[in-house]
Amino acid sequence: MRPSADRAALHDFLGRHRRVLLTTHVNPDGDAIGSEVAFARWLASRGVQVRILNDSPTPAAFTWLTASNPIEVYDEALAETRFAEADALVVLDTSNRQRIGRLARHLDLHPIAVAIVDHHVTHDGFGQVNVVEPELASTASLVYELVREAGWLPDPIAAEALYVGLFTDTGNFRYSNTDARAHRMAADLVDLGVEPQLTTSRVHASAPPGRLRFFGEVLAELEMREGGRLAVMMARPEQFERHGLVGADTEGLVDMPRAIAGVEVVALFSEVDPGRIKVSLRSTGRVSIDQVCARWGGGGHPHAAGVQMRGTLEQARERVLPELAKLLATLEAEASAGPPA
Ligand code: 5GP
Ligand code: MN
Repeated sequence: MRPSADRAALHDFLGRHRRVLLTTHVNPDGDAIGSEVAFARWLASRGVQVRILNDSPTPAAFTWLTASNPIEVYDEALAETRFAEADALVVLDTSNRQRIGRLARHLDLHPIAVAIVDHHVTHDGFGQVNVVEPELASTASLVYELVREAGWLPDPIAAEALYVGLFTDTGNFRYSNTDARAHRMAADLVDLGVEPQLTTSRVHASAPPGRLRFFGEVLAELEMREGGRLAVMMARPEQFERHGLVGADTEGLVDMPRAIAGVEVVALFSEVDPGRIKVSLRSTGRVSIDQVCARWGGGGHPHAAGVQMRGTLEQARERVLPELAKLLATLEAEASAGPPA
């Protein structure tokens, strides 16, 4: 078990603040939303006044989770009010100041106390208290451990929210971050009443037909490079528009080429709005791709990372693909060097 000095500081921080605002990164995923809902319920159980305000809307796959804990979406006047009311901000699932989007400006105007609860390696530690534990599979895992050590047993909604964070960030318990600790937490949550079949289908069986047609179109143009070890996909603005989709609707698409034998890295370039490119990278485990994203100011985890770029899809490809080719060449060099003596 890691030393818990930071965790103790967080418990102390939460004991000192009575009006807490929660937020997470732009384009939130299941771990971001699930962690916020569970954290909000924990604080509310202690009589803390809690609000959740995010830069971006909640993706359709997770809105059901927010029925009893509404998540507000950024609006300048609303953010002004929420920051003026709060005496502390807790940032979940990112520790990069710029990743909280437009909320960062309000933090400049209202310098309230900040605590970070996160599991990303790339962090700038902008909180007064920073609990950042990359060895944990999800931020929900960290929230779960924090609430348990504070003596709170998650209620059914919080348990389900934590389960969503855990299974989405582990790719349904398939990614390299899936370890015994992740499975133990899942087992605890099932003991607390979570029904895996029901909860996973609430997330995965919620797509409009257009989303699958869009996946089909993108997959039809899948490009195999570097001797079949790199799979590349491109999603263009007119495709998003034609199917009535937003950026969050690519969730799950980047995982599909992992089904192809021999694939080491998958790259998805999506242009949701013209000129704004989102790059998503995944590694099946042998190479670390977060440093490639870090070169352009992005980041994430060794096997799942992303970055936003300005320019055209072609320009983004020209930047990223040679870096990935170089990384994959290191595997070749290792292979030709033979097994260590
Ligand atoms: P995704 O490709 O699913 O959007 O993101 C994969 C991982 O990379 C997630 O852990 C996410 O938080 C991180 N990530 C995605 N985009 C960015 C980015 O622009 N900056 C940073 N620091 N991390 C990102
Ligand atoms: Mn996460």
